[in-house]
Amino acid sequence: MPLTVLNYHSIRNDGELPLSVTVQEFRWQMQFIADKGYHGVSLEEGFKKTGKNKKNRKEIVLTFDDGYLDNYTEAFPVLLEFGFTATFFVTVDFIEHNMITWHERPEQGAAMSWGNLREMTLAGMCVGSHTLSHSRLSEIPAAQSMRELSESGAVIGERLGTQVLSFAYPSGDFTREVMEMVPEAGYAMAAALALPPGIVEDRYSIPRTGINVRDCRWRYRLKMCGVLGTPPVNQMVKLGRIFNKKN
Ligand SMILES: [Zn+2]
Repeated sequence: MPLTVLNYHSIRNDGELPLSVTVQEFRWQMQFIADKGYHGVSLEEGFKKTGKNKKNRKEIVLTFDDGYLDNYTEAFPVLLEFGFTATFFVTVDFIEHNMITWHERPEQGAAMSWGNLREMTLAGMCVGSHTLSHSRLSEIPAAQSMRELSESGAVIGERLGTQVLSFAYPSGDFTREVMEMVPEAGYAMAAALALPPGIVEDRYSIPRTGINVRDCRWRYRLKMCGVLGTPPVNQMVKLGRIFNKKN
């Protein structure tokens, strides 16, 4: 069964952020997943060994980028209600200082706190790294990229008392060189958006389909089955095999 990996940013009603989804639509989307017999899971869970309890279970991977406060206040309660898990890729400077320079977004909104994230991990959610500063990794020197990768994972792990296994490239921007740094920095997997030219699907370049305010219900349905946006991870079986071999 192909695995679809969805990517959200902010769940809010003011419509100020083009990448946001309204609270009502997010709830409808989670209900749609449940009604279709799917289970929403974290990236880590989606790529784990197929255990007895996972046999024949249909899964959709849910991910949230950046670390917006509404991920905690709006998305988290809905996920709990449906018994779903998700991976939250947080930008360390945003969580620590509530201040960050987004490259494509002048508006930012408030960030989650480490306390919010601790509560979420205790409830079964996963927290991954989205760098320290949300820099475009193809545009900064290699040493700086390595620092963005390794220090962010270390800070998150230390603040939350967890092992940080997953990473997401800011703006889906990376090169083969950056991709090779991901395992060196201690991660087991990395999430992209649409893959950059010349990059093939791998455990360190997992494509995701972005969901935003422009996705009306029919567009969402098409994205769910891979007709629109980044196609589902058709090589799930292959990826699972690679993942299981290395773990
Ligand atoms: Zn981001």
